[in-house]
Amino acid sequence: MSEDCIFCKIINGDFGTEFVYETENTVVFNDINPKAPIHMLVCPKKHIASLNELEDKNLMAELLQTVKDVTKKIGLKSYKTQINTGKEAGQEVFHLHIHVLGNKK
Ligand code: AMP
Ligand code: ZN
Repeated sequence: MSEDCIFCKIINGDFGTEFVYETENTVVFNDINPKAPIHMLVCPKKHIASLNELEDKNLMAELLQTVKDVTKKIGLKSYKTQINTGKEAGQEVFHLHIHVLGNKK
């Protein structure tokens, strides 16, 4: 856990944020400022600053599997995913996350 990371604090349960879905190494919660009717963030529980720092191939697979499983769980068949990597690309929170955006089921 990184002390000054907002997503680490969320994952640690500091704000009582509801998790839409959770696996051993990943967690999903709703974006606080949704850009679509459904806007979830899929994160590793471990603090990893960005995709550039992700080296664990099992965790890479688990993150994508979580995208599939959470969308299936909520009945969302069509969705868009996005990973912003680096400040110039619009990354604001430096804890790896996959945006999952969809319209109402
Ligand atoms: P990015 O620009 O890819 O780093 O995306 C960061 C995302 O995190 C933005 O869509 C924010 O709305 C979202 N966000 C920031 N703080 C929170 C929070 N406390 N809870 C949920 N989502 C957040
Ligand atoms: Zn973190």
